[in-house]
Amino acid sequence: MSNPTPDELHAQAAKAAEAAYAPYSGYRVGAVVVAADGRRFTGVNVENVAYGSTICAEGNAISSAVAAGARRLTTVAVAGLNGGECYPCGNCRQLMREFGVETVVVQGADGEALACRLEDLLPHAFGPEVLGGD
Ligand SMILES: [Zn+2]
Repeated sequence: MSNPTPDELHAQAAKAAEAAYAPYSGYRVGAVVVAADGRRFTGVNVENVAYGSTICAEGNAISSAVAAGARRLTTVAVAGLNGGECYPCGNCRQLMREFGVETVVVQGADGEALACRLEDLLPHAFGPEVLGGD
């Protein structure tokens, strides 16, 4: 199986974002997670009237991957439908670190796909090796 390009993943994330539930902010986000075995999982942001209960698209997609048995993830792509930059929040960067994500495809200022390394987005990260996790 060939590796998907950043543009392909960004396009898939943008398509997923069409299903986002963002009635309060209007900031619709989609994400795609690629597992080490090549499976892909999508997620969208799900807002809540109690703002703290809102779920990010990336966390949603990672949860779907884990629920399907994936434990090793390689890439996460994120796209926002409002244009401009779209980067994962700090919490989602930490969620990615847990499952070994190496590449994060973000959306640049002109809406383009940019491939970044997670270690550049989350330097000196607290990872599962510290506590001896799986
Ligand atoms: Zn997030």
